[in-house]
Parts: sequence; C-alpha cells; structure tokens
Amino acid sequence: MTEKKKQLFGTNGVRGIVGELITPELVMKIGMAVGSMRPGTIAVGMDTRTSGPALINAMKAGLMATGCNVIDCGILPTPALQYIVMDKYEAGVVITASHNPGAYNGVKVIEKDGTEMDDDASIEIEERVFSNNFFLKEWNDVGVVIPEGDLVTQYITGVVRKIPENIGEGVTVVIDPGCGAAYRTTAEILQSVGCKVFTLNAYPDGNFPARDPEPSVENLAPLADMVVSTRAAFGVAHDGDADRAVFIDDNGRFVEENKEFALIAEHLCSKRKGILVTPVSTSRLVETVIAPYGCTVDYTEVGSIYVARRMRALLAEGKPVVFGGEGNGGLIFPDHQFCRDGGMTAVMMVLLLATKKQSLSSLVDALPPSVMLKHKFHTDKATEILEAVREKFANDSLNEIDGVRIDRKDVWALIRPSGTEPLVRLYVESINESIAKEFEQEILSCISPFI
Ligand code: MG
Repeated sequence: MTEKKKQLFGTNGVRGIVGELITPELVMKIGMAVGSMRPGTIAVGMDTRTSGPALINAMKAGLMATGCNVIDCGILPTPALQYIVMDKYEAGVVITASHNPGAYNGVKVIEKDGTEMDDDASIEIEERVFSNNFFLKEWNDVGVVIPEGDLVTQYITGVVRKIPENIGEGVTVVIDPGCGAAYRTTAEILQSVGCKVFTLNAYPDGNFPARDPEPSVENLAPLADMVVSTRAAFGVAHDGDADRAVFIDDNGRFVEENKEFALIAEHLCSKRKGILVTPVSTSRLVETVIAPYGCTVDYTEVGSIYVARRMRALLAEGKPVVFGGEGNGGLIFPDHQFCRDGGMTAVMMVLLLATKKQSLSSLVDALPPSVMLKHKFHTDKATEILEAVREKFANDSLNEIDGVRIDRKDVWALIRPSGTEPLVRLYVESINESIAKEFEQEILSCISPFI
C-alpha cells in the first residue's frame, strides 16, 4: 500500500452521496486533474443513475478545459468502457457508484491499459484537486467532443469472439440487469452465442424501482421465480455497472459467489495449468478445486485492482496466469482483459454448462463442502488486534498481505481492518462447521479485549 493515504479515492475510485461529496464541481475538478495528467483522447461513460448526465457533462467540461478530446460512450458497463479504452485511448472515466443505492454516484478512472488507476496516480489527482493545480488551455486549444459510432458493439463483439460459436443453442437464460448498465449488453451477448433469453429489469432507470443495484440473495427472488417458471438453465444478475455477475441455478437457488468462482476456476484450470490470482479473503474452495490440475493460488490484498495488477505483473515475469477474481462475482479473464467483467462471466457460465453437460444445480451440489463464518467488529483498536493475533498464532502459517490470514490444514481465518472505516472483519472457513466454530472461538478469545 502507498504510504500517503488517499482521501477521496477508495479501492474503487471516488464514491459518495450526490449533492454531498459528489457534486458537479468535484467531478469537473477531477476531470481537469485527469486531463492535466493524461493529455490526449479520453473515453467517458456512465451507468444509469439519475445524476449521471449532470456529472458526465461536468467531467467532459473538465477534460476539454485541459485540451483533451472526449469520446462520450453514454451508458455502458464499466468493463465495456475498459475494453474500449484498452490500448486505444489515453484514459477513460466512468461515472458510476457500482452496487451502491441510487443516491450515490462516483468516478472511476481507467488507464490506457484498461486497468483502474493505481494508488499513486489517484493520490496525484487528489493533490491536484485540493490545490487547484491544473493545466488549463487557452481558448484556441480546448478539447472537443469527438462523435463516434456505437462503441458498445465493439465490446459485445469482443466478448462473443472469445466463446465458441452458437455454444448457447438450446439454452434458456434469464437476465436481471437491475435497471443498471448491463441492460445494453448482456442480453445481446447471450443471444449472440445462441441462447434463448428472457429478461427482467432490463431498462435503464436510475431510481432502481425493481431492486437495489446490489445483486443480493434477497433482491433476486423475482429472478429466481422466473428461472424456475421458464425452466431456464440459469439466471444471471449484475450490479449497477455490471463488472460483477451472480447466478441463480436451475432450481431457483442463489449460487454463493465463491462457489461461482470455484466452478469457473475449475473449468479454466482443467484446460490450462497455471496460476489463479485472488485476494486473501477468497474461499479456500477455489484452491481446493484447482489443485488436482497442478494449478496454484497467488493471494493479493483485497480489491480487484490489486488482483488485476498482480496478474499483469506475473505475466510480465513469464508466469502462466489462468484466471483471477474476487469471491463476490467479480471475475477477471486474462485472455479477454484485465478487469472484472460481468458480461464475460455470464457467457462463461454458458460455456461451462455446455462443456460439463450437467445442470448448474448439480455442479454446485458436487462442490466440496464449505462453511464460512463472517463477523464485523466496530473498533479503533485494529493495530492491537493484529498484534495479538500475530502473537497468539505465531506458530501457524501466517500471510500478512492484507490483515492477518492464518492457514491450517482444515481451517483458515482472516482478520482484516477496513481501509476506510473503524472496523475489523473476521472470516473463518472450514469444510466442517464445528471445526470452523472452534477456531472462531479461539480467535475471538484472543481479540475480545479489543472489541
Ligand atoms: Mg461494480
């Protein structure tokens, strides 16, 4: 982690409530900062939020004031903008608050290589915003908006090209974009590979009348009903900017995201031996199912940007990187691009089922058992907690990339302070509930003086 602390930017860009932290003024200043740092042609886009048009125009104004030319892609998923930017434009900006409720919005900056901006560059943006340090151009040098054809189609084609033709023939799928950005892409992607597609909430509405942008179990009951009534192979739902995809199986059951990750990981690792990159918070299920193929896990800090950058770094060292992602439905396919991609994940599920020739429910049921216990403690004693854990478990195998992860043969745990709030998270996972609970007690007794 960078020494200097970010003030505006979190792990996923700047995000906050519209009219409070997120104002056109702030967004325009971020635009002027980005334009000062990355002069050239910049692609911008947004999700479906009501504040999107006001904020994207502020962003465009800021960029053009510093001489950048702007390509406005309109509403599109974050991974679609990343795909469009990759190796073609100087940078990209998405106006989105991902899975947050409608009152939120935010800014995510994309670098030339299609990955999210790193901590050092984000801190430079903040410093420029706070000190009004921008390279503004004179009247005859300001930028313009460059009209472009429908660039979203390039993304859809790019995804479809990665999958064997007509792999979805005879497969029925239900899609729930939740009135978010995926309404423009996922149905077309799945239809292009031959699927029969039903949709719900597949229109843009920043009031999110049907469900919150977070695709949680509770929010997806209508999708589950529709999967069962249409006898679909699966249902897929996205968050607001569609970098994540989660699934409902053919029996109408929500597929826990670590299980989704494990199933797709097993499929990809059975085809190619190599490394899978994921944060230390991911279920060991993933490691377990890929081990028989000689594949290994490389653990990173929590945050998709760390996963994406680690994947690139390993590849640059000549290492074989097969797959990456997080246990929240945010999966990264390195043959496609280095960011989480919900549309790509949806179509990978079609490929997985076609290859296995089994139902999604039976594949989920065949996974090894896993019990994950999760806790959240409000405390400002994170340092003391980590110190106590290090001391008590000194004889165990410890990984301190992000918090402290303790790995034992049949159980593991992660104790991790939040980067943004005064709280500490605890995860414990085992194949056996009583083992998980026993270990949980052992950890709780160690940290209880501080919570
Ligand atoms: Mg998202």
